[in-house]
Amino acid sequence: MKRCNVVRVLFSKEQAKTLETLGDRCAALWNAANFRCRQAFLKGEPVPSYATLCAEFQNHPAYKALPSDIAQEILKKLRKTWNSFFTLLRLWKKGELEKRPGLPRYWKDRRTGKRLAKLIPVKSPRSYFLDTRTLSLTLPADLRDGNGRLVLYTRGVLRFSGTPKTLELRYDRVKKRWYAHQVVEVPEPERKAKPEKYAALDLGARVLAALAVEGLDRQILFSGRKVWKDFLYWTKRIAEEQSRLNRAGRKTSRQLRRLYQVRARRLKHAFVALAAEIARILKQHRVSTLLFEDLTGIREDMDFGPGNLLVHNFWAFRMLRNLIEAACTRAGIKVVPVEPRGTSSRCAVCGSPVKRPIRHKAVCENCGRIWHADANAALNILLLGSSKGHGAEATPQKPLAFRWNRHRWVSRFESAAGTLYATSGSRMAA
Ligand SMILES: [Zn+2]
Repeated sequence: MKRCNVVRVLFSKEQAKTLETLGDRCAALWNAANFRCRQAFLKGEPVPSYATLCAEFQNHPAYKALPSDIAQEILKKLRKTWNSFFTLLRLWKKGELEKRPGLPRYWKDRRTGKRLAKLIPVKSPRSYFLDTRTLSLTLPADLRDGNGRLVLYTRGVLRFSGTPKTLELRYDRVKKRWYAHQVVEVPEPERKAKPEKYAALDLGARVLAALAVEGLDRQILFSGRKVWKDFLYWTKRIAEEQSRLNRAGRKTSRQLRRLYQVRARRLKHAFVALAAEIARILKQHRVSTLLFEDLTGIREDMDFGPGNLLVHNFWAFRMLRNLIEAACTRAGIKVVPVEPRGTSSRCAVCGSPVKRPIRHKAVCENCGRIWHADANAALNILLLGSSKGHGAEATPQKPLAFRWNRHRWVSRFESAAGTLYATSGSRMAA
């Protein structure tokens, strides 16, 4: 499987200039090739393939100003961007997207119109070297000095070791820093032969994740309340900054980009911690397979927040699902998607239809059991995927609830007693 190492790249003034020149040349090639693609598209002609782009551009001055490993990677990246544009266009034509997707953009500053040095992709490990302290790159002939390579110090930990693949240098305009993103191929963790045990996960908005474990009579819920509250706060700050910019007749600012970055980071922090907590719980209960329902049902659960905010942030759920999947795979737990089949409309014990008198409660019309709606859904997913049934108690127990305290996920009793103990403990240790 593929993993990504991210480290910060340190540079001297001279090296900053070299990086900027290199990045600017990447942007020049991107823009030239993108112009070609956009013209073709607007004239109704086929957009050139990667191979055609390579053939057409290999004698172009912007191509020749770069080492071929970088130039080819720019063209490949451009072609991939066009592929995703076509995918989105198809979705839009089917009516599954509200807005028509825009054409792939040029790399330039919208205000000044200047080219933007933001990305330097390096195709193969032949043309770079990254270890715990340094990153070195092959340079184009005219930028070379003494040893012909650009050697930069790095800061950060290489979390994954494996076969090195491509590397990208990305410029963060908000922080004014360069980061190296390296893809490595890591061998799959060996799955120990252990008895099959299933768990099921239901993703949602109010309750981000509901977890049912085979043989466990309490289900586990992760509340989304605090997470979305924080997300809304930063969304409000973004709106304020936008209206300030509007009054000044501007579209964007460094501050605006910073706010977007903060909002995304804080959300991701909660999600990464949630994924880790789920993997930890599953491991503790020796679960071998996690079943989860695909995300199609989520929209109906999202009718809250100003302007139906979350409907437009569907990517957030995809990110959450991917993070959970990655954390479980790392822990040696198999992740299996199941087709959604009315998991929230049936009673998990007798299978009769349920009524939803209030949003989070599900009452069985036949046996009268009262479920937490999300816990019931998770149990139903467990029924769909495992042969043994869920083995939960016939009387629903109150689920165990976790909430986000901006640092970690805590369960209700832990938040009352545990945190107090933890803080006094750390104070004593200090
Ligand atoms: Zn029932």
